[in-house]
Amino acid sequence: MDDSRSRLRAAWLAALHEVLGKPSAPIGLHEPEFGGSEWAYVKECLDTGWVSTAGSFVGRFEDQLVDLTGARHAIAVVNGTAALHLALLLAGVRPGDEVLVPALSFVATANAVAHAGAIPHFVDSDPATLGLDPLALQLHLARLADRRDDGLWNRETGRRVAAVVPMHTFGHAVDLDRLMAVASEFSLPIVEDAAEALGSTWRGRHAGTFGLMGVLSFNGNKVVTTGGGGAILTNDDTLARRARHLSTTAKLAHPWAFVHDEVGYNYRLPNLNAALGCAQLEQLPSFLARKRTLAGRYRDAFARREGFRFQDAPPDCESNFWLAAVRIEAEDRAIRDALIEAAHACGYHCRPAWTLLPSLPMYRDCPRADLPVAEAIEASLVCLPSSPRLAEVRA
Ligand SMILES: *Cc1c(COP(=O)(O)O)cnc(C)c1O
Repeated sequence: MDDSRSRLRAAWLAALHEVLGKPSAPIGLHEPEFGGSEWAYVKECLDTGWVSTAGSFVGRFEDQLVDLTGARHAIAVVNGTAALHLALLLAGVRPGDEVLVPALSFVATANAVAHAGAIPHFVDSDPATLGLDPLALQLHLARLADRRDDGLWNRETGRRVAAVVPMHTFGHAVDLDRLMAVASEFSLPIVEDAAEALGSTWRGRHAGTFGLMGVLSFNGNKVVTTGGGGAILTNDDTLARRARHLSTTAKLAHPWAFVHDEVGYNYRLPNLNAALGCAQLEQLPSFLARKRTLAGRYRDAFARREGFRFQDAPPDCESNFWLAAVRIEAEDRAIRDALIEAAHACGYHCRPAWTLLPSLPMYRDCPRADLPVAEAIEASLVCLPSSPRLAEVRA
């Protein structure tokens, strides 16, 4: 290792040590915390026998989500991927359509498109937000798309372009002003993948409430967890009713008969999971405060060291800092991997960003724009341990 590399490594480990102290056990990327009423609420489910797809915690959880996000409706489902799948169907995505998604995202964003029988069409990211770049999208569509009476068509593939799915990466909101302008210019419905953005706001309004629909995830590694879970947010009464109906096997209300009027899904969140979620949401303010404190410590630690740029929240966004992240200025995968290795060896379980989705075998042949920014981010970004409890560590 040459001098500059060993200096970079020393600075890296010093920054982690300064923020996280010396770990007595490996520090994971994001660990759940059950310090509230989780035990009592889950016990109530067990005591009453209401563990499954009916029970009072589901409605209560949805009410809490409505209060928190300001969305008119929240529909709780089994996970974020299912939420995205349903939202895409309700946005009018049909088999054979294309759906615009960021190349830099968790695989679920593209999988949900595939589950709807559609084809993901990958677009580039904005270095300031890490999310879909509205200007790059606009240029791409201007070059490639035909606006017709029956929708927007990809001139190269002959397929309809049915929707756009921005993703609020690590809790940082995309530039929603510009994105909404581009989407409306091309008459594209927006389904926000806000899986990582619970508690994040853009100009004071909660992420996931700008598009036609937004989705949240409550997987074990997210800001709050229900074990597994997700939700659809929408302000549209009809879409909300449709989402509820489709997620509960499209069963018609009746005291005893089983009548279903279309092919539905078994996507409703069980009461047991919702009980966990109610207790978790009660603690969200504390989770957010501590995650933001922790992010501030990383910001300070990396500001004083050369070769790194802390990935701060973009303008207009109050981020939940789901995952704090830093860019290595060198933009070199080998350097990135060496630093991640070194961190792991000291008990700090850092991770790179996701492999770009069009590099995965199942999405290799999908249409894509040029992806210079997504490639640079992928080569240089490292996610840092971000559990709320880490804000209590003193080095
Ligand atoms: C977590 C996540 C999802 C949904 O994940 P589930 O595990 O299905 O709840 C979707 N998109 C992104 C970007 C995510 O991070």
